Amino acid sequence: MVRPRGEISVVCQNEKCRFYLKEEGKDIIKRGKYQTGHQRYFCNHCKTFFMETKGTPLYHKHLTKSEIINICKHLVEKNGIRSIERITGHHRDTIGRLLEDLALHAEMVNSILLHDVKLGQFEVDEMWTFIKKNKRKLSREAQIQMSKVMPGYSIS
Ligand SMILES: [Zn+2]
Repeated sequence: MVRPRGEISVVCQNEKCRFYLKEEGKDIIKRGKYQTGHQRYFCNHCKTFFMETKGTPLYHKHLTKSEIINICKHLVEKNGIRSIERITGHHRDTIGRLLEDLALHAEMVNSILLHDVKLGQFEVDEMWTFIKKNKRKLSREAQIQMSKVMPGYSIS
């Protein structure tokens, strides 16, 4: 099957995939839309659907992967944004935007924290609970994504 090359700019968002976040060798097609209107993509390698994303949290503009994980750990410990700002030296606006990004990619973040960082389910839940407290600042889409990892979450 011949497909036009270079047409799809997204990379696979499934961390279990060999081509996770890889540009080279990826095989991704557009396949329908989500209810939210977001383009849905399908990876032919891992046979997984995923959503179009604008910069995954791990490829955040201002923060490295280890910095993001570090901030997540502070959130787990219920440190507030201002105290995280003090501890890490990152501006509170950067941290605020990270909360939105984490929520937007809730399922992926959940699985990274549980499987890579080896946090417990309870700790991860603590982090989402903390982010939820700031939910007035979250977009509707972020809340929809976060509701997938928080049973009983109600979208405002
Ligand atoms: Zn894949």
